Amino acid sequence: MHTPKTRSLVELMKLGPVLGDGGYLIELERRGYVDSGSGREKVGTGRGSGQFTPEVALEHPEALRELHREFLLAGSRVLQALTFFGTREKLGRAGYGDQTEAINTAAVRIARDVAGQTALVAGSVSRTQLIEREGPVALPKAKDHLAEQIRFLKQAGVDFLILETFFHLSEMRVALECAAAAGLPAVATLSFRPLITQCSDGHDPAECARVLTDLGAVAVGANCEQEPSRMMPLLRAMRAATNLPLAAQPAAFRTTDACHCFTRQPAFPDDLETIQVSRREFEAFGKQTRAEGIGYVGGCCGCTPAYIRALARGLDAT
Ligand SMILES: [Zn+2]
Repeated sequence: MHTPKTRSLVELMKLGPVLGDGGYLIELERRGYVDSGSGREKVGTGRGSGQFTPEVALEHPEALRELHREFLLAGSRVLQALTFFGTREKLGRAGYGDQTEAINTAAVRIARDVAGQTALVAGSVSRTQLIEREGPVALPKAKDHLAEQIRFLKQAGVDFLILETFFHLSEMRVALECAAAAGLPAVATLSFRPLITQCSDGHDPAECARVLTDLGAVAVGANCEQEPSRMMPLLRAMRAATNLPLAAQPAAFRTTDACHCFTRQPAFPDDLETIQVSRREFEAFGKQTRAEGIGYVGGCCGCTPAYIRALARGLDAT
């Protein structure tokens, strides 16, 4: 195992697949520290509803610290600061807008404390939800919010960014522009829904991979929404379209042929336990990782430290 602190993510990926971490918001919601919003509104509509915001970094830092520690012990060599949904407008809708800088800064500090010399720290940046809510006309506003968050993450000292769970290629494009303007390397992963055949503004996985490559991402791929077996075909389509390392962070929930995303299943979010896949599927995914050209691998929603441990075991077996 190489020690990340002496090498950048790009250098590490040249040496073999880099093991990331798993999902934070869903796990911390299960542990009682994050609000799913489901008590007040229907979440998972794809229309930008739902809370799942990261104020836990301020309100229960010890809980966040503990989950980071568990991922590190499971083998993660990158810890993602819990800054997902950390843009000002999204936090504002949950009542935390004026704490945007404090939440982002605290989350990076906590991840850095736990990572020590053992792991890199990534800033997690996701879609603003403005495009789902207001349409493409909101792109300039989304860009301002993404640029602000990325500025906070840069000031807090992240090693690189993971731009993840973007539904629209157009919004990912402006996020990559913001990352480049800040001088931060960026892993770029889209989420494909309701089917894996195209993202929400109608581009297929291969086209997305080409565009993200041209925009300067250091790795491109997919995260969230599908379990590993369902995500694999879309990763292969991306593999055929780019020479960059692929990045894959599948969810740990079973999807269906009719709907390839777990957040639109009736089980989301209060019956997720009924569609959880077992950690064995992540071990099998780990065994496939090297051969499929995946340079960065972790998990998203439902992927707990036990799943990262299984993923590590699969990787080690090859
Ligand atoms: Zn997820």
